[in-house]
Amino acid sequence: MEEFLTIQDLHVSYHTADETVYAVNGLNLSVKKGETLGLVGETGAGKTTTALSILRLLPFKFGSIDKGSILLDGMDLTKVSEKEMRKIRGDKISMIFQDPMTSLNSTIKIGKQIEEVLKIHRKDLGKKEVIERVDTLLKLVGISLERKEDYPHQLSGGMKQRVVIAIALACEPKLLLADEPTTALDVTIQAQVLNMMRELKNKLNTAMILITHDLGVVAENCDSVAIMYAGEIVESGAVEEIFEGTEHHPYTVGLFGSIPDMSKKTRRLSPINGMMPNPADLPPGCPFWPRCPKAKDICKQQKPNEVRQGSHMIKCHLYQDAKGGEEAGK
Ligand code: SF4
Repeated sequence: MEEFLTIQDLHVSYHTADETVYAVNGLNLSVKKGETLGLVGETGAGKTTTALSILRLLPFKFGSIDKGSILLDGMDLTKVSEKEMRKIRGDKISMIFQDPMTSLNSTIKIGKQIEEVLKIHRKDLGKKEVIERVDTLLKLVGISLERKEDYPHQLSGGMKQRVVIAIALACEPKLLLADEPTTALDVTIQAQVLNMMRELKNKLNTAMILITHDLGVVAENCDSVAIMYAGEIVESGAVEEIFEGTEHHPYTVGLFGSIPDMSKKTRRLSPINGMMPNPADLPPGCPFWPRCPKAKDICKQQKPNEVRQGSHMIKCHLYQDAKGGEEAGK
């Protein structure tokens, strides 16, 4: 499969009167056409900032892309004009946010909200075709056409998120950014919405970045996984490499150790000790060393490079010493 999105050495920061917050620090990532990448990490790892950078929707004046490139089908999104970006958003790239209520306008009927996206981006469609497309989209996400005249508050949480998904897919985007799309929903609805998203994505061959902290959701829905910590990807690979492989970044080991395993008799989980470092005051060397049970002296002074073996990448000094794999990022 061809690379569709390639992010290289991305650095993003937020600036306040008192400090600079380094939210993304040299992030490398790629997604192929039709692929689903799970972007996993704790709150504050920089997952949402990465998605907002792709859409160039960082908070005005406070957020900035300081370095790096975001290539979408060969076009560097860090360099295109705001006018051009407005055309790209909703057309080539769409985003589904965590809370459907913040994405929908509570004063506009849901059918009209889907219509609006089509009117902005699909000027080739006539009035009748727009209405037909709205009906098709509603059917696609499993909402009966009688509900078209409803306002968002008249729908359940799951239905509202389906409307958000219909809006996101209205123009058949080539890249879908889904930021915790089911966290606000209850468990049974979560499974339904994720199944529906998977089916629609396959039908439209959309590439997707699924942002989540739920490794179960990743296992069932993703082709590849990128583990993010303190604004960097510390491990990435095919879903089998991350879930079934034996060699992992100590942070990945900690994430898996924090999940209850029903097949094993364990008295206690082994969570990751400590907290994510303050992004305004990151430690020198590997950002994980204050929490890492395997930290060595070098970890406190020198940032590890990416070590790759095939599609599997780990950014840790342990592997640079032991594996002698193909190093990148030097
Ligand atoms: Fe731990 Fe060192 Fe690897 Fe960082 S580089 S994860 S501190 S062993």
